[in-house]
Amino acid sequence: MAKVLFHVDPKKSMTEQDLPGHNRWHPDIPAEVGVKPGEDFRVECMEWTDGQIHNTDSPEDVATVDLSRAHMLSGPFAIKGAEPGDLLVVDILDIGSLEGWGYTGIFAKENGGGFLTDIFPEARKAIWDFHGIYATSRHLPGVQFAGISHPGLIGCAPSHALLEEWNKREQELVATDPHRVPPLGLLPLAENALLGTLKGAQRDRVAKEAARTIPPREHGGNVDIKNLSRGTRIYFPVYVRDALLSVGDLHFSQGDGEITFCGAIEMSGWIDLGVDIIKDGMNRYGITSPLFQPGPVEPHYSQYLTFEGISVENGRNYYLDATIAYRQAALHAIDYLTNFGYTREQAYLLLGAAPIEGRIGGVVDIPNACVSLGIPLEIFEQDIRPR
Ligand code: ZN
Repeated sequence: MAKVLFHVDPKKSMTEQDLPGHNRWHPDIPAEVGVKPGEDFRVECMEWTDGQIHNTDSPEDVATVDLSRAHMLSGPFAIKGAEPGDLLVVDILDIGSLEGWGYTGIFAKENGGGFLTDIFPEARKAIWDFHGIYATSRHLPGVQFAGISHPGLIGCAPSHALLEEWNKREQELVATDPHRVPPLGLLPLAENALLGTLKGAQRDRVAKEAARTIPPREHGGNVDIKNLSRGTRIYFPVYVRDALLSVGDLHFSQGDGEITFCGAIEMSGWIDLGVDIIKDGMNRYGITSPLFQPGPVEPHYSQYLTFEGISVENGRNYYLDATIAYRQAALHAIDYLTNFGYTREQAYLLLGAAPIEGRIGGVVDIPNACVSLGIPLEIFEQDIRPR
């Protein structure tokens, strides 16, 4: 078994663990653990909100979740010998749950909401129980599927220059509509910033500068790519000495798009990693954002019911807009599933959690983009095809 280099007790906040971890990105957050290339190691991770969501039937905790505490990450790990300009090779060797359950939430409007917040403004929650590789939910009867477990969030620390670039461009975006609720981006926020073992004046400075963990960026981060499961290899650009790798937000399963935002099956868990270095790899291959080679271990779903979405909403045409088209595909799927005893909220939760396939059909056939959303038929006890 890979040696546990970062231990987490899921009953405690990350602020009370032996090693505190972090919930912001900054090159000055110190690494407490060193790893040699070639070494396999296990990292335990808190669920992304730091344990604010409970195994209960009420969605009250999802409605009132404090996002300034997210995402709780384990690390950073100092990968010995990695230097700016190298590629860090990270192998995801295995993933599992620490507590045997997870949750999917629909975020309320006050929390920034999800992909369809205008239609589903109220918080909802489904609890999932894990049986080995399978998930079932008392809140979604008649459904069982094998999870494609993966880290929602994994990446290396940015350089000071890259962090400055992120902050500048995100400030510029937010400034285009400064009173919008929710805002167009989440700017640095000192409140509830967890920055490893940093203390004093240095901690205060970093808390003001550090980037939030919500968006994916050039270093990876919150990519939410559901197929980064067991056996995946990732090539990360290295921006700082020792790479400073961190990981968290483990998902038992997720549908493409993670559309409810709190929308995968979120869990506390462990992940086994292996690391290696390709010297000067960024320059040799001209790589400025991560490459992923998804692993060979996934469930074999062969039959899908696939819904079409085009970039037309409420009678208005949106020019080649794949986001609008995916919204429409999701809404068609949600409405259709109400034929089989599910509420629209249950159907929405299911699309966030189950291994649904989002695919871009076409983005050239003016004026309409076409995006499809496929639901595996085998996850339902009943036959959901039209008859
Ligand atoms: Zn997540």
